[in-house]
This record gives sequence, structure tokens and C-alpha cells, in this order.
Amino acid sequence: MTSQEIRKRFLAFFEERQHTIVPSAPMVIKDDPTLMFTNAGMNQFKEYFLGNRKPVALRVTDSQKCLRVSGKHNDLEEVGKDTYHHTMFEMLGNWSFGDYFKKEAIAWAWELLTEEFKIDKDRLYVTYFEGSSDDGLREDAEAYKLWAGIVPEERIIPGSKKDNFWEMGDQGPCGPCSEIHIDIRTEEERDRIPGRELVNKDHPQVVEIWNLVFMEFNRKADGSLEKLPAKHVDTGMGFERLCMVLQGVRSNYDTDVFTPLIREIEAITNSRYGKEEKTDIAVRVIADHVRAVAFAIADGQLPSNTGAGYVIRRILRRAIRYGFTFLNQKEPFIYKLVDTLSNQMHQAFPEIKSQKNLVVNVIKEEEQSFLKTLDQGLVLLETIISAAKDNHVSGAKAFELYDTYGFPIDLTALILSEKGYGLDQEGFEKELQKQKERSRAATSVTTGDWVVLAEDAEEEFVGYDMLDTRVKITRYRAV
Ligand code: ATP
Ligand code: MG
Ligand code: MG
Ligand code: MG
Repeated sequence: MTSQEIRKRFLAFFEERQHTIVPSAPMVIKDDPTLMFTNAGMNQFKEYFLGNRKPVALRVTDSQKCLRVSGKHNDLEEVGKDTYHHTMFEMLGNWSFGDYFKKEAIAWAWELLTEEFKIDKDRLYVTYFEGSSDDGLREDAEAYKLWAGIVPEERIIPGSKKDNFWEMGDQGPCGPCSEIHIDIRTEEERDRIPGRELVNKDHPQVVEIWNLVFMEFNRKADGSLEKLPAKHVDTGMGFERLCMVLQGVRSNYDTDVFTPLIREIEAITNSRYGKEEKTDIAVRVIADHVRAVAFAIADGQLPSNTGAGYVIRRILRRAIRYGFTFLNQKEPFIYKLVDTLSNQMHQAFPEIKSQKNLVVNVIKEEEQSFLKTLDQGLVLLETIISAAKDNHVSGAKAFELYDTYGFPIDLTALILSEKGYGLDQEGFEKELQKQKERSRAATSVTTGDWVVLAEDAEEEFVGYDMLDTRVKITRYRAV
């Protein structure tokens, strides 16, 4: 089954059960100060849950573009290293706004997976909320009972607040959840360690695929919970993970969602995927990040130096650096992948095709300018490392790279940690603070009662600053 078919069949299944198919909301959020990017299918329906707006329909289904790179849900550091977390991914969902509740949500999820998609029941585990004294919440006995009517008891696992109480962010709608996990290991592997022991333990072949959230509360700014005006169902299934299961492969990157991109990366960079771990990580990072960046730009978020734009710039730069370091790419190449991405995704998400030229141009320009920075910065960092004592780099040195050459501090930290070097992060912060104070002082001079009298200005050498740069100042006469 192709990924296109899988998406269609999911939506059709819920359409047959009176759900209205709605389009994905943009991945970039402009009107919610608590959230930069859509991190789950429910974001666009937040106001329905809170009772502030009336829903378009009581039952809805969709495939939502999500991005988990900031705030409460941030998977950036896992991406590329593991095979089942992405920055951008699709979340398949079905929703009830004050309509059906736990019984139907659980029964349909099970029916879809085991009857429609014919997943082996013996590979599935389910979890339910065990309660939490923090919020004075009792265990979700209702969910347990419903599951016990469908699956053997040994496949039902209690879960803590961390895994089984879903929250959008520090504030907002939330509630206990029940999840479905799948064990796709070989029979031999399963004989050795029972799947039950590996649920929620970061095993790449025992993964969570579907989360059924029973929305009942709103987390307020002061941390307390209040009851929502009605009870709702919010489910989220990782589309790429479902494809992995249904296509019988062991990694999301081996599904047809990713293989066209990976083949293209191999061809452009003259590398092979699946031979060596370092190369593989780089290929996965690039295949993943190009999707996130391309869709963010298509949704109107250009890379920039602040806020959401900076997050996107950092994701792209992470991909560029992996290409530069592990695939030896010294020229822009990521922009070339947009064509493949568009061919593959435009049916479900037409914006990737209509915005293709913009996406290509923006990515190419970003690549050009960051490659220049990288080239200079990496040479300097090597010099700094070879002069470093006790495997440690000072905050001042890292600041020099950042301030004078525009080399990002998180990149310095990453490279150092890969080489087993420590970084004085506190020292860096101090230098940053000092610089802020300097520029504040400088601003106050220029806005004070001094003015530049060009013809009388004279330059004078006054010494070296802490970066060993020859410093000249211009003396101005007061009027
Ligand atoms: P995990 O425990 O694997 O990090 P999660 O509990 O954080 O997942 P939920 O917030 O419950 O995820 O989201 C619903 C579903 O979305 C998950 O069951 C999973 O299938 C999928 N999903 C979550 N995060 C990612 C990601 N970074 N990349 C791909 N799919 C994801
Ligand atoms: Mg997670
Ligand atoms: Mg989880
Ligand atoms: Mg979950």
C-alpha cells in the first residue's frame, strides 16, 4: 500500500463514520502567543475545545502537518539519530467536539488498525492513564474497562502523567490519553524480550503509533486545571510510522514517504544510504529537514534572525552542516530536493507545488550564505580546539566565533560535544551580556549630545581589544 493510499483510507474510514474531512491548518501559527508552530492536530481546534467557538461539524477527520522543534514538544535532537521522530510529520486524526467519547474512539481505532489495515493483534499494546497525585487525578478506569473488552489484559499497560496525560503546551486543553503501541521486531527478538517491557522505552521497533486523547480539562496559566464545558475526542496517529508498519519496513525512512528524497540525496551527493551510521544520520537529517523548511516557507515563514524565522533558519543550517561535514557538500544542494518533495506531496498539500519557486530560491540563498560562514568558522574552530587545554573551550573563544564570524553557538556546542570537548556556556553567556551592555552604552553616546563632524573627525589607534583585533576609534568633537 502506498503512503497516498494509506492517507486516503484513513480519511475514508472516518468519513464513512460521519466525519467531515477538513484540510490541514498551516504549520506556522500567527495568532496564538503560546505556540509558534502547529505541534499536533488539535491546535487548529483549540477554540472549539475551550468552548469559545462553535465547530464546523461535530465529527472531523484530517491529516495535519506538524512541526516539533520548540516548546513542550521538541524532538529536534532525536531527528536523524533515531528512525521514527521527525521535525515535520503528518498527524492523522479523528475528532469529536462534544459528540462521541471514549467508547467509540477506542473501538474505531482498534477496528481501523486490525480489520481495515489488518495489523496483527499480537503485535499491539495499549496504555491508559494511571492517575497523578500532582493534579489529584484518578486512574482512567473507564478506558481500562473498554480496552479489557477488546484485548487480553496482559496487553494493557498503565502509564504515568508523562506518557498518558496529553498537554498541548504549558497552557491549553488537555486530558488523559490511551495510546496504541506496536512491536515490529522479528519473532526471535520478541521471544527474547516481551514487547510489553519495551513500550515507551525508546526502542526503534516498539513504537507508539496512535494517541487517543480524551479532552476534559484546560491547563491555566497558574498551572491549575479547570473542567472544559464539554468532553471531546482528539486522536493523533503518526502517518509516517503507520506507513512503516503497513509497508513492512523497520524505519520511517524506508517508507515511500522518504525513499524518493533519499535516492535523490544519494545521487546528488554521491553517497550510499545504509552502509555507515554517520552518513546515514546525515542523510536522514537532510531528508527530514528539507521537508520542515520547505513546508514552513510554503506556509509563509521565511528564515530570519528572530522568533519562528530563526527556528526555521536553524533547522536548515543543521541540515547544511550535516551535508557539509558528513557528505562533503561545499556547494548548495538542498534546494535541489524540493522538486522531488513537491512531486510526492502536492496531491495532499498543493501549497508545496504552488510555492515551489519561492521555496527553492529561499533555500538556495540561505545555503549560499551559510556555507560561506561555515567555511570560515570551521577553520577557526579547529584552531581554537587545537589550542584548547583540558578538552575545554572558553566562553570568550566561542563568543569570538559567534560575534565576529556569525558562527552559531549551538553549532559550536554540537561540534565540540561530538569531539568530546566541553564548552563554557556560562562564560559565553557572560560575554554576550557584556556585548549587550557595550552596545547599549554605544547607543546612548550617539543619542546623547555628541555629533559627528565628518571633516574634523580623526581616526586614532588606541590598542587591541580582547579579540586581538586592532581597534581604532574616531574622535568626535562636541558641539
Ligand atoms: P513519542 O513518545 O514517540 O515521542 P509522543 O507521545 O510525543 O510520541 P503524541 O504527542 O502522543 O506523540 O502524538 C501523537 C502521535 O504522533 C504519536 O503517537 C506518534 O505516532 C506521532 N508522533 C509524535 N511525535 C512525532 C515525531 N516527532 N515524528 C513523527 N511522528 C510523531
Ligand atoms: Mg514525543
Ligand atoms: Mg509518547
Ligand atoms: Mg503520545
